Amino acid sequence: MRRKLAAGNWKMNGGSAELAEIRELLKSSSTAQTDILICPPATLIERMRALVADAPLSIGGQDCHVAKSGAHTGDISAGMLADAGASHVIVGHSERRQDHGETDAIVRAKATASWGAGLIAVICIGETLDEREGGKTLDVIATQLDGSVPDEMAPETTVIAYEPVWAIGTGLTPTLEQIGEVHDFIRSELGKKFAERADGVRLLYGGSVKPSNAAEIFGVSNVDGALVGGASLKASDFSGIIAAL
Ligand code: PGA
Repeated sequence: MRRKLAAGNWKMNGGSAELAEIRELLKSSSTAQTDILICPPATLIERMRALVADAPLSIGGQDCHVAKSGAHTGDISAGMLADAGASHVIVGHSERRQDHGETDAIVRAKATASWGAGLIAVICIGETLDEREGGKTLDVIATQLDGSVPDEMAPETTVIAYEPVWAIGTGLTPTLEQIGEVHDFIRSELGKKFAERADGVRLLYGGSVKPSNAAEIFGVSNVDGALVGGASLKASDFSGIIAAL
């Protein structure tokens, strides 16, 4: 059985004042039947970790460098995230792929770096609107999976998030059939490459998930949770999503 995961990606949002949302979230999350992860900006990881203390809520980074250390101004290594109290890290988010030119090979190296630091890697993949409209979605997903997921993949330390680029922050979502088609496809592609290791990998859907659509999305086969951007910033919204899992 795969345990469900509700993951929040705060992106470049949140400072000291927003720690109040975590205090609020802790109240509702203590009875949650699912795993909960918040990926705040790196500046908040350590304080959020201290706030969460022993509560069943994990903290993650949003990106890491491929190297352990060195002359990489402005970058943060996976080991530094772990040192600050993170247990997870998102790699290959489409905003990183688009804004920072991250290729599948870079994402793959980042996943390997995450595992090297003892972190769980949340590897993101997803098609653009042009690719969806051009009927290329499954080809794109197959290529990204093959290129971004290292051969040493272990289900305990790997989460895959399917996030159609056109659904992120737009209020648009694929139909439930489209989500199911891609999630089933991801599971079967992983099966071809990783055999029985594929069964334990959690597959998250991401892109405009909110309390009002969470339950129907979570009812789709092979959807093991969500990666949530905008609706993870407010404890009231995010706890509504957690409750729907
Ligand atoms: P969104 O973002 O929920 O705001 O659409 C999802 C994501 O980018 O992870």
